[in-house]
Amino acid sequence: MEPPSFSIDVQANLETVLQDIEHATLRAGRPKGSVKLVAVSKTVDVESIRQAVAAGVTVLGENRVQEASSKRPLLADLAAEWHLIGSLQKNKANRAAEIFDWIESLDDLELAARLDRACERLAKRMPVLIQVNVGREASKSGIAEEEAIEFSRRLSGFTHLDVRGLMAIPPFTEDPEEARPYFIRLRELAQSIEKEQVGGITMKELSMGMSHDFPVAIQEGATLVRIGTAIFGPRQAR
Ligand SMILES: *Cc1c(COP(=O)(O)O)cnc(C)c1O
Repeated sequence: MEPPSFSIDVQANLETVLQDIEHATLRAGRPKGSVKLVAVSKTVDVESIRQAVAAGVTVLGENRVQEASSKRPLLADLAAEWHLIGSLQKNKANRAAEIFDWIESLDDLELAARLDRACERLAKRMPVLIQVNVGREASKSGIAEEEAIEFSRRLSGFTHLDVRGLMAIPPFTEDPEEARPYFIRLRELAQSIEKEQVGGITMKELSMGMSHDFPVAIQEGATLVRIGTAIFGPRQAR
C-alpha cells in the first residue's frame, strides 16, 4: 500500500535528531554518547513507534499510564525502555510500576511510597527522576526548587526507588536561549543535592530539553533529551 502523501518520514527525522544531538554534545566538549534520546511517543501510533525503534530508538517516553498500558503489550517484542514523563495519579501507581522502566516525573511523597511498595511486590528497583517546577508555573507539575533537598532526603528511604537525577520542563519560549537559565538552575540544583550527600543519592541524570531547545539543554548538561515532534511530526489534538 502507498503511504499517504502527508506521512512523516520517521527514519529520516530520527537521523537528523541523532546527528543534532551528537553535534551539540561534541560542541559542548562532552563525550560522544553521553546524551541519550528519549523518543516521546505520546499520541503516536504503534506502527510509527515500531519504525522509530527499528531505526535506532532505545528509549520511549509516554505521559499517560493508560495509553502506555494499551501500547506496550502490542510492542512487547521490542527491546526499548519505557519512561513515564507525565504526571502520575496515585491510583495508577501500581500499574505504572508494572509497565514503566523509569519514572522521570516523581514529585510527590505519597506517590513515591506507593511506587516503592508496588516495586517491592514486583521485586524490581525503579530508576526515578525528581521533577522540578523550575518556572514556578501553576500549570506544571514538579516540586519547588527549595524543596528538592528535603524531598531527596525523604526519597532515599525508599529502597525500591533508585533516584538518579532531576527532570524539568521550563516555561515555553519561542527563543530556546530563554530556556538556558532554567537548564542552568536544574544542573546547579543537582550539584547541590549531590554535595549534601543525601543518603547515597547520586544525581547523574538531567532530563531536560525538547524538540525546540535540546541543543541548549545539551550545552548545559542534559543527559536525557525528550523529543517528540522533531521525530514523529506534530501531534493530533486529543
Ligand atoms: C510532549 C513532551 C515532550 C516532547 O515535546 P516535543 O516538543 O514534541 O519534543 C517532552 N517532555 C514532556 C514531559 C512532554 O510531555
